[in-house]
Amino acid sequence: MYILIVSAPLMILLIGNVPEGREFWRELSVALGFAGLAMMSLQFVLTARFKSIKAPYGADIVYHFHRQVSLVAFVLVLAHPLLLFAFSPDTLGLLNLFTAPWRARAGVTAVLLLMGLVAASLWRKRFKLEYTTWRVWHGILATAVVVLAMTHVILARHYLNTPWKQSFWIIYGVFWVSLLIYVRIIKPLQLLRRPYEVEHIHSERGNAWSLTVKPVGHAGMKFMPGQFAWITIRSSPFLDGEHPFSFSSNACQSDRLTFTIKELGDFTRQIKNLSPGEKVFVDGPFGNFSVDRHSHAEQFVFIAGGVGITPIMSMLRTLAERGDRRPLVLIYANRDWESVIFREEIENLKDALNLTVVQLLQEPPADWSGESGFVSQAILERFLPQARQRNTFEVFICGPQPMMNAVEKALINLKVPFGDFHAERFNLV
Ligand SMILES: Cc1cc2nc3c(=O)[nH]c(=O)nc-3n(C[C@H](O)[C@H](O)[C@H](O)COP(=O)(O)OP(=O)(O)OC[C@H]3O[C@@H](n4cnc5c(N)ncnc54)[C@H](O)[C@@H]3O)c2cc1C
Repeated sequence: MYILIVSAPLMILLIGNVPEGREFWRELSVALGFAGLAMMSLQFVLTARFKSIKAPYGADIVYHFHRQVSLVAFVLVLAHPLLLFAFSPDTLGLLNLFTAPWRARAGVTAVLLLMGLVAASLWRKRFKLEYTTWRVWHGILATAVVVLAMTHVILARHYLNTPWKQSFWIIYGVFWVSLLIYVRIIKPLQLLRRPYEVEHIHSERGNAWSLTVKPVGHAGMKFMPGQFAWITIRSSPFLDGEHPFSFSSNACQSDRLTFTIKELGDFTRQIKNLSPGEKVFVDGPFGNFSVDRHSHAEQFVFIAGGVGITPIMSMLRTLAERGDRRPLVLIYANRDWESVIFREEIENLKDALNLTVVQLLQEPPADWSGESGFVSQAILERFLPQARQRNTFEVFICGPQPMMNAVEKALINLKVPFGDFHAERFNLV
């Protein structure tokens, strides 16, 4: 479907009265430009958080797709001028922004901005760009690139030689503007009309805080345990200040939402200073990381590292509330015993659930008799259920990147079917 949508504008330009063909490389260069532009425009749809688009795949996969596909679009867009310059050197003069016609000025500026956009995204951390600043500029540059590229297409006119083809591009443009209006105005307005307020803040182990919010003037939010939402505090939903957090609360309760947040940077450090009654905006739920999507499974295995326990805690609390008696294994890795978030409650959950808990410490105390070190293939081999056939058990992994990569590799080595393990990565970007 994606390929169809991306190639549709190109196909439409080739219907009916088509201008006379020019040399092959020139036409190929134009075709690549159109395909690149269509792909870039579609990026806005991918990141607009439409639940129907994200639901089948999960938000992380959609963001990864967004990232990978933007590199392909970048190569296509770049190939457009490069092929043109290589096979028609007379066009090199179009690079001179002082003398070039407006269509070329728009095109060249779009490509230059796109280069900046891609470089800032690939090397954000290397350039020491703060996330929020990067995100604001990412949106501004992306919009500028698409608007300039469309201006380039409309001014070049070569393929827009009939009124209906011109109308098509105008409708195409109107569609993207409507999308921007939806994301920037309608969506924030919807959030403003369904506010939440802080009920209480609770200190947890491991430098984390549980923030509980309640709906103001509406019924709250139904979610699947393991999903996440975007939260805005002390700011307006019209500004780009939202951050993603997994629900840590029991999903049977939709009128109280709890998020457990580890102090890490500017935003997460503010959580402990919130006061009861302060307004919070919650956009969600999102994500596919949930036992509820695998109700057929005979047992579940949860592998968590540090604050990665939050979505898993929501699943454990919900399964306990539902009186679920299926066998569960929780392998939970932490640096030391004192920083094990929800340590006491996990112990208590053993009474309500058929739950085996394997605590794994990197720096265990002297009298520690449990497991130590990192989550390894040997540990997984020992605690995973033996039946390695599809659909008998499902594995949920959430923790630091290196842990997740190592666990996924080990599960593949252990021949756990690829579709039976699910990961929630906290570093979307
Ligand atoms: C699906 C998902 C669920 C998450 N659940 C939890 C949770 O339950 N508990 C928890 O403590 N953390 C969770 N996180 C991580 C949390 O979103 C980041 O730690 C937090 O946004 C960092 O913000 P900061 O300003 O405090 O830190 P910073 O130092 O500014 O950021 C640290 C890193 O966090 C990421 N980040 C920062 N701001 C954002 C943003 N607005 N949107 C997306 N990523 C951002 C960037 O990769 C950045 O480099 C989750 C992340 C995702 C993607």
